[in-house]
Amino acid sequence: AKEAGRGTYRFFESAMDEALQERHSIEADMRNALAAGEIFLVYQPQMNADTGEITGFEALVRWNHPERGIIPPDAFIPVAEQSGFIVPLGAWILREACREAASWARPLNIAVNLSPVQFQQGALRKRVETTLIDTGLAPERLELEITETALLRDRDATIATLNELKSMGIRIAMDDFGTGYSSLSNLQSFPFDKIKVDRSFVSTIEEDEKAASIVKAVISLGHSLSLPIVAEGVESAEQLAMLRVERCTEIQGYLIGRPLPISAFRHLIDSDASE
Ligand code: C2E
Ligand code: CA
Ligand code: CA
Ligand code: CA
Repeated sequence: AKEAGRGTYRFFESAMDEALQERHSIEADMRNALAAGEIFLVYQPQMNADTGEITGFEALVRWNHPERGIIPPDAFIPVAEQSGFIVPLGAWILREACREAASWARPLNIAVNLSPVQFQQGALRKRVETTLIDTGLAPERLELEITETALLRDRDATIATLNELKSMGIRIAMDDFGTGYSSLSNLQSFPFDKIKVDRSFVSTIEEDEKAASIVKAVISLGHSLSLPIVAEGVESAEQLAMLRVERCTEIQGYLIGRPLPISAFRHLIDSDASE
């Protein structure tokens, strides 16, 4: 038993070594990645559930690593948050997304994810303001998505920052709704303009009655608070049908479109809006 125990320990130790080495290697490579042009954005369409019209896009970051290929954000955003690299990276993402959206023929919305670390930077409001001025994007077209982890720190300072951003005309969406510690009380305390129901609920609404009830309740909550609700991770026509019955406001997911380089969506962006 002792032998087995030691073996198990060794196994975990080497697994942890590997994870740590992986982290260090990602961290080292990331510093050059931005300058080397390896970081890029993909865009996922958001659709008005009622009319079927595309209302905007969410920008999602990708890293095209010379040896590892495309690295998903879950594999490097946490590392960037720990090392502090998320600050220049997040600033680049915001600028790139705003610059792109400002060039579109149709004034569609652009949603950008903000890391909690960026949010705790005192200079956030100034950064956003400068980015809008430099890129020429109208603030009304920008939506910032923040998760509940961004709200954990200083409540009053967070509310003040959100209100400053809102007074500029920017909308604030609560991302991954329902997965945090106190989603309802956060909804009450913070001035959100939109709720994004997490994919973990949406993806199981067909087979899991509880998930379906939760999604319905969140949508109805949105109606009573006059807050639009976005369902993320919609993959099937059946899910879309259910969400439409509940009068969900917006739909995002592979059914509408996968996140892709913006060139894939040119036909939606440059087409005449009156068509
Ligand atoms: P998120 O903000 O909740 O983004 C939604 C994720 O769900 C994206 O994964 C998207 O590709 C995926 N998704 C969308 N529709 C479907 C669907 O129908 N089915 C399935 N299976 N997945 C779907 P992605 O791009 O890998 O991003 C993962 C997370 O990484 C994001 O979750 C967000 O928290 C973070 N992230 C991505 N881009 C950025 C960024 O620019 N800045 C920051 N701070 N975080 C980012
Ligand atoms: Ca998001
Ligand atoms: Ca999510
Ligand atoms: Ca997320």
